[in-house]
Amino acid sequence: MYKGRFAPSPTGPLHFGSLVAALASFLDARYNQGTWQVRLDDIDPPRHDRSSFQTIPDCLEQHGLFWDNDLLLQSRRKETHEFYISKLRRAGRIFTCTCTRTTLGPLGQCQSDCPEKRHGQGSIRLHLSDATEPGFTDLVLGPQIPTVMPKNFVMKRRDGLIAYQLATAVDDIDEGYTHIIRGSDLLDSTFRQMAIHEALGKLSPRYGHLPLVTDSLGNKLSKQAGAQAVDETRPVANLRLALDFLNQTSPPSAAKSVGDVLNFATEHWRLNQLNQG
Ligand code: GLU
Repeated sequence: MYKGRFAPSPTGPLHFGSLVAALASFLDARYNQGTWQVRLDDIDPPRHDRSSFQTIPDCLEQHGLFWDNDLLLQSRRKETHEFYISKLRRAGRIFTCTCTRTTLGPLGQCQSDCPEKRHGQGSIRLHLSDATEPGFTDLVLGPQIPTVMPKNFVMKRRDGLIAYQLATAVDDIDEGYTHIIRGSDLLDSTFRQMAIHEALGKLSPRYGHLPLVTDSLGNKLSKQAGAQAVDETRPVANLRLALDFLNQTSPPSAAKSVGDVLNFATEHWRLNQLNQG
């Protein structure tokens, strides 16, 4: 049974790029008669914008993007994250790295003798096995191999916060998602999250990465860079623009409500049409 999700970080209101990711993951789930969850990835408090815990779910609802079951909060799953870290520790796949920013090598990887040292305070890193051959077939982009892949990367930060890669890799398998549709800015992260799944002996979900929405200068829209919030007073127009961006068949002009537009879009959804603009 298909299970999909949208997992924004509460670092600001939804912008058009996040609406596109939310809509595509929603439509792919509904088209496949699956369930769709919303999870707020709230594990990095210094980056949070308190109001977005309210504005993000409100904005999704305004656009008719209603999730199944309860809204999930990643911060509630710290024990599960720690449990999987201890599993990786028992499997000998992680080490404590005491390097500072200046002693880390290219791609922010540890290249000193940290793995051999037993003690010390620092970040906790996964080291990739030489046997791993990262690569997968993306549902949108086709066959993918990483252009660069670090030899190790952070699972738990020096300040004690769980890193995005670990939390997301763990939650995605533990919450049982079968399909993850998200922006192409996360493609590099996908290789890392798949490496975590592999280290845990788990199967990864299928992934599909969407074209990125950029501003007039070609930069990715991002909440941190202050991208404009979606105007919630015109949800139908926003959905039409997002469908257009996703290269989907336009709903007829008779489709006047959010429900009409989403019903049409679900029926006519074609994930493999995304890249044929
Ligand atoms: N929380 C991440 C973000 O907002 C995305 C997580 C994901 O889709 O894996 O960028």
